[in-house]
Amino acid sequence: MESIIKKVSVKHGEELKGRVLKVYSKKGSFETPNKAPTSTELNGKKNIAFDGPFLNPVFEITQRYTINNVSDLHKKNGVFSRKISEINAHSDTLVNRSLVKFFPQIPRDIQLNDNDIRSFIDLQLESNLNIISLPELENDASVDDFKQNFEKYWDYVYHINPNVVFMPYLNLSQDPTLFKNKLNLLNEYEGMLHAIGIKFASIREFRPNLMTLASFSDRDFWVHCSSSKRANWNSNVPTSQVHVLQRYGVDTVSVEIPMGGGQIKNKPTLDTRYFNQEKVTIPKISESIHDGDLICDCPICRAQNFKELTEDLSKFVSRQKSINSVLNDFSKIHEVYASTREFEFSRQRIKEGELNNYFYQKEGLKQDLNDNYPSQLSLV
Ligand SMILES: [Zn+2]
Repeated sequence: MESIIKKVSVKHGEELKGRVLKVYSKKGSFETPNKAPTSTELNGKKNIAFDGPFLNPVFEITQRYTINNVSDLHKKNGVFSRKISEINAHSDTLVNRSLVKFFPQIPRDIQLNDNDIRSFIDLQLESNLNIISLPELENDASVDDFKQNFEKYWDYVYHINPNVVFMPYLNLSQDPTLFKNKLNLLNEYEGMLHAIGIKFASIREFRPNLMTLASFSDRDFWVHCSSSKRANWNSNVPTSQVHVLQRYGVDTVSVEIPMGGGQIKNKPTLDTRYFNQEKVTIPKISESIHDGDLICDCPICRAQNFKELTEDLSKFVSRQKSINSVLNDFSKIHEVYASTREFEFSRQRIKEGELNNYFYQKEGLKQDLNDNYPSQLSLV
């Protein structure tokens, strides 16, 4: 038996200049950087009955857990089975042509015990998935505990299903020395271990860990980052965070399940957040409308008139779902198409050794250059 991924190799890679990785799998090969749509975005399509396909090579099915309900997987009847059904409801339609992974979104301060980890691994092994994610035991777990957890479950997964790909996760939000030592440990398995997962945290706050990751840019691992924030909404420039990570050697990215809780109501529809591909920001949709029409020609936007679009989408409004919520679903679908397309451009720029210039030309991305090279920016 052979793993579904046959080989992972760096095609172009330089520290802080991005990298293009080629992943060869039984379902064909693909290049990075790239976006991995999530089940949240797939649900958005369902909510507004949009049936155009997402053709991305990797998908992520996400489920949100709290400190109180992780243990339900092994303590309450029916929960484990229901979670498998939820995963398969998405994966069954994707798994023939894409690589499908799972990510449990759990709070940063959680401490998982071995039963919890085992339940997450079994949940994935019993679902229709190609990639098995291994969460860290806790945020600042020791290197010894990390090693033990990693070796135990890699062996466990391999013996149950050698076809699947094992992806151990590192939390970005941890002590820099721990992060570096754990990455060094995984690096010893280059060539055997194909994939490493990163659990997103603030790009600015945890920059030292991203710099460590960037120094691994020449290594043949596929690095996937889960749970990225769409944007930093408090900043003056609402940069699309997903696109910043490519400078640090992250190959594929997926976004977090947004904190829901009540729906956004009675906001002007023109305030809906909408990915602006030219600037790589997520400003209000009003910035992306010219002469009444959307400036994007992706499969869902098709440069439609915004007023007519809003009228058309109003058929999905119900007591449970406001027009803001419906437009937000529309916007998420647009973002999958437009963000994926933008990664195709940046991938080309990486191949040309021009990622820094690309960042400089994008309103949403140039600040990240400034954070690294404050004295050099004026010379670009
Ligand atoms: Zn669009």
